Amino acid sequence: MRNMWIYESLYPDIKIGLTGQLLYKTKTPFQDVRIYDTDRFGKLLLIDGAIQTTEKDEFIYHEMITHPVLLMHSNPKNILIIGGGDGGVLREVLKHNIKKVTLVEIDEEVINLSKKFFPTLSRGAFNDQRVNIVIQDGARFIRKTKETFDIVIIDSPDPVGAAKALFSKNFYIGISSALKENGIMIRQTGSTIVQDGVLKKNYKLLKAIFPYLAVEIAAIPTYIGGFFSFTIASKSINPHKVQYKTVLKMFENLDLKTKFYNPEIHFASMQLPNYVIEDLQ
Ligand code: SAM
Repeated sequence: MRNMWIYESLYPDIKIGLTGQLLYKTKTPFQDVRIYDTDRFGKLLLIDGAIQTTEKDEFIYHEMITHPVLLMHSNPKNILIIGGGDGGVLREVLKHNIKKVTLVEIDEEVINLSKKFFPTLSRGAFNDQRVNIVIQDGARFIRKTKETFDIVIIDSPDPVGAAKALFSKNFYIGISSALKENGIMIRQTGSTIVQDGVLKKNYKLLKAIFPYLAVEIAAIPTYIGGFFSFTIASKSINPHKVQYKTVLKMFENLDLKTKFYNPEIHFASMQLPNYVIEDLQ
């Protein structure tokens, strides 16, 4: 064990601590970015004091924010990722039979550093012919785009700093316009215990815009606070009405190689504990 303690500093009253060593730190025009090598979770990306991802548990988050929505859609071809500069979501999206994926990341430095320090996250995904990288604020991109998408994945940090705009009513109205009629969006909505306010607030905002919503939960060890949540929204697809056999067939046809996700987890993750159901009412 090395001596340095690394603490997440998102909140003043609760912190996750890991031992390890600092590999790199920089202040980009948008945020403070640090990369550590931890003893238990491998390399860790910290942005503005908040844990973004670690080599050891990244697969849970990246698979669960990608596969459920792509498999709920019968034919996803045009995908939009907002944020996601580490490349983990891109890697998972490219396992599907898609035509194009656009990744809109505000901070090019995160992409460059991730390619260098986290090659297993993107695994060459940034070089794929189907990938279109746009360096821009995701909120601005949504205001301006004329393109429509089958799937929108909002892989943003917590609602602080540059990411704040990605949690607003106007942004969600823009997402609704940028989605095709049978399009589906998903976003992370934080820990169901420690960040229950984030889930409640965003679920409410999305409910006023989209007729169909669902919440998935998964435990991600370095996202402190028990079950972590993802909120799914669509104008015409009810996630709870999608059939298990349809998802299974697509999963098998694609021969998807996953470490966490499978069609059983897909449906189990949308069964919520009572405290979450109450929060959403
Ligand atoms: N899985 C992570 C989490 O939940 O903490 C998110 C990881 S990914 C590294 C988040 C990315 O969103 C960062 O690279 C950050 O630069 C980017 N980002 C923040 N605000 C943004 C915005 N307004 N538009 C586009 N990208 C943004």
